Amino acid sequence: MIDLQSLPDQRGHFGPYGGMFVPETLMDALNTLTEEYAKARADQTFQTELSDTLREFAGRPTPLYLAQRLTQKLGGAKIYLKREDLLHTGAHKINNALGQILLAQRMGKKRIIAETGAGQHGVATATVCARAGLECVIYMGAVDMERQALNVARMRFLGAKVVAVTAGQATLKEAINEAMRDWVTNVRSTHYILGSALGSHPYPMIVRDFHRVIGEEARRQVLEKEGRLPDLLVACVGGGSNAIGLFWPFLQDDSVRMVGVEAGGHGIRPGEHAARFEGGKLGVLQGTKTYLLTDEDGQVQLTHSVSAGLDYAAIGPEHAYLRDQGRIDYAYATDEEALDAFLALSRTEGIIPALESAHAIAHVIKTAQTMSSDQILIVNLSGRGDKDVAQAAEILLR
Ligand SMILES: *Cc1c(COP(=O)(O)O)cnc(C)c1O
Repeated sequence: MIDLQSLPDQRGHFGPYGGMFVPETLMDALNTLTEEYAKARADQTFQTELSDTLREFAGRPTPLYLAQRLTQKLGGAKIYLKREDLLHTGAHKINNALGQILLAQRMGKKRIIAETGAGQHGVATATVCARAGLECVIYMGAVDMERQALNVARMRFLGAKVVAVTAGQATLKEAINEAMRDWVTNVRSTHYILGSALGSHPYPMIVRDFHRVIGEEARRQVLEKEGRLPDLLVACVGGGSNAIGLFWPFLQDDSVRMVGVEAGGHGIRPGEHAARFEGGKLGVLQGTKTYLLTDEDGQVQLTHSVSAGLDYAAIGPEHAYLRDQGRIDYAYATDEEALDAFLALSRTEGIIPALESAHAIAHVIKTAQTMSSDQILIVNLSGRGDKDVAQAAEILLR
């Protein structure tokens, strides 16, 4: 059985993965964050404020919804959707943003920075900053700003400053570099709200913990509805935060299988996908040791996915560890499969999913029919599709 207490150890290791690979100038800030987080976690006042805010502001608990027509259509396992798409700002990201801003306020920070890929984490961060009355700067790749113009406008309406990053591929990786650079310079006044279960310790642990509410609710809800645990959990994996949030509270239930779904892009060829477990190697990127997509020279490879939230070259270190342990399996869905799933869920259930979540649905479409009708599957619907409508229309309605 997985020993949850050791995930991670004192220095942030998940087995051989994780750790703190950062410049000396950030070590103090990260150690302080680790200490302050440990205090907050043990503080009932903090926990109560967090759960009240998740309920009153973000809209928790989210329903565990039986997808009746999809279940019928696929003719296998009973399919439940964990409806993170119904949260305020449209995705699971608000769970982490709210947790971290409460932490920042406890630490007396006056200024917040964040990176964003699809823009969802930027919107969630701008939202909690507006609510808290804190200054907010969001770093975003110029290419992503174009793909996700709607989210850029939302961040600006919310009072955030959005800084375009033009270096390299001008997507998430470069945005994280800029945010780190800012943090090194302004570390006294500023808290960096990292958006996925990635980066240096303590972030993979903190972000996971703030998303564990997804799995805790799902566990309670499925026991209420079915009187037993599910057979399979499915979630898409960018950095891995929505997946680890759903999976974590089930890790010690050996009967529950779990599959994380990566972005297969145009197919598994160099530069054409973002499936780190399909040819990725052990390496260090942006503070953590994990699986990375690199070329023969060890340079970080270009990635591709139709979904801006899944195209990062590294996967969260805890996922690498749990894969080694054989506890979580990983699969991928291509752009085409995700787009098919996007339409399938829209038309059978009346729910337009985010393109990221559509990767998880694509795996469900492949898998549910191989299971029997007395089996139960829960898929995390990590976000809604509003942000992707323009992009999907260009591809699907041409
Ligand atoms: C950001 C995002 C993801 C990918 O991030 P994870 O950290 O892997 O969860 C998935 N779905 C949606 C809707 C997102 O906005």
